[in-house]
Amino acid sequence: RPLIVWFRDDLRLSDHPALHAAARAGAPVICLHVLDDTVGRPPGGAARWWLAQSLRSLAAGLAAIGGVLTLRRGPAVKVIPEVARESEAAAVYWNEIAQAPHQALETKLKGSLAKLGVDPQSFPGDLLASPGAIRNKEGRGLRMFTPFWRRVLALGDPPKPLPAPKALRAGLALASDTLESYGLEPTRPDWTGGLRATWQPGETQARGRLRDFLKTTARGYASDRDRPDLPGTSRLSPHLRFGEISPRQLWHAARFAAAEDPALASGVEKFLSELGWREFCRHLLFDHPDLATENLQSSFDSFPWRRDETALAAWQRGRTGYPIVDAGLRELWHTGVMHNRVRMVVASFLVKHLLIDWRQGEAWFWDTLVDADAGSNPANWQWVAGCGADAAPYFRVFNPVLQGEIFDPDGTYVRRWVPELKHLPAKLIHQPWKATPIELASAGVELGRSYPCPFVDHARGRERALAAYAKIRKG
Ligand code: FAD
Repeated sequence: RPLIVWFRDDLRLSDHPALHAAARAGAPVICLHVLDDTVGRPPGGAARWWLAQSLRSLAAGLAAIGGVLTLRRGPAVKVIPEVARESEAAAVYWNEIAQAPHQALETKLKGSLAKLGVDPQSFPGDLLASPGAIRNKEGRGLRMFTPFWRRVLALGDPPKPLPAPKALRAGLALASDTLESYGLEPTRPDWTGGLRATWQPGETQARGRLRDFLKTTARGYASDRDRPDLPGTSRLSPHLRFGEISPRQLWHAARFAAAEDPALASGVEKFLSELGWREFCRHLLFDHPDLATENLQSSFDSFPWRRDETALAAWQRGRTGYPIVDAGLRELWHTGVMHNRVRMVVASFLVKHLLIDWRQGEAWFWDTLVDADAGSNPANWQWVAGCGADAAPYFRVFNPVLQGEIFDPDGTYVRRWVPELKHLPAKLIHQPWKATPIELASAGVELGRSYPCPFVDHARGRERALAAYAKIRKG
């Protein structure tokens, strides 16, 4: 009897515990993906595009070792027992997802499959440490990153990644939905040109990106990672989001590279601690399934957010009049990602200068990021807004001009994404309103026409934010 391997956020062949176990069992293997928007948070537009490419790549990878990817739409709680019955499968194997709605589904499935005489087997998922392993004395998850990460490091190296199966015995050919019927890719208008020009989803590309990062960028990672004008980071986040590569593959490859070349040591440790933030966010989500909707600090529940659709639209379109903010939002729209430093700056601008609820920014990121992650996105938004775990204090308001001058000193990043400012000299590029009429004219900038005037004045925006914060502190 065949075994079913159910693929979810683990669209790869190597280091895939469920696939590895099924291949070793020697029985025919049915590889199954189910598009189920009823469990967890349905992916946004950009992530749906990525998912389609990643499934194509997974299907090709499976075909190369004799496997076939079967696609089915519908609630997994019904579809999986149906496929098990249809194929007379002996077992269903999957990798766990440590998130409440997915765990509830897994529990239900275990019950219904067992009733059918099908053996449900689940394997550790995509975390370096299971949330149950990192608890405080009261049995709760940790709210501070540094002690959390210390505890993860103290667990020692995670198990070595598993190899990809060399061959699969394909199970009986089942009816499959088409990828087109999944409806993941937009047709009219097709807004994915920028995504296609920027990314190649898939396991092979993820591994290539990791290799290139360790060969080149990792050396300067500790200092360059904050510079949006430099290729200073790994750009692995969407590959990690869809499980095209696993955290323990990153861990072992990075540690091996540092052992071979001690000059990489500091970059590698910093890189692993950033991976630790992903882990931290996932653990927070495990303990707080409503992370995307509820303030972790309830004192923020009465925060006087403003509803301002005009300001929100200007922010979303990258037309706030602050060049570093606008560059970030345009980069996001075009490529489906934004540099981490700039994510912090634009999020702070929305929440503090515009006093718009962090949930509105989070929702925009959710729809436009290819790496939109149910843990990292809300946890980072809450971190910036000051209501999250180990959060930046609300009263620390990023100055977008200074952030630009420090992290994009020549204005290279702004010039790339806000081309209407590209002829301004570096000293003015982060504050075009300081330019004289002659300077503006010689750079071809018409402030208020070709590029907007600042939406709010920094000093006034800051004061307004602090006054709003004072209100909730008074209670
Ligand atoms: P690298 O610097 O190469 O880091 C390696 C990996 O570590 C990343 O791929 C990512 O998995 C992880 N990582 C790095 N920084 C963080 C962080 N602050 N929090 C969690 N994990 C981190 N990251 C997402 O993957 N998905 C999101 O939806 C997301 N939303 C964010 C929203 C806001 C407001 C902010 C400030 C940050 C957000 N991040 C998110 C974190 C971070 O910006 C991205 O992970 C990073 O920019 C990805 O680029 P990289 O792969 O080159 O990162």
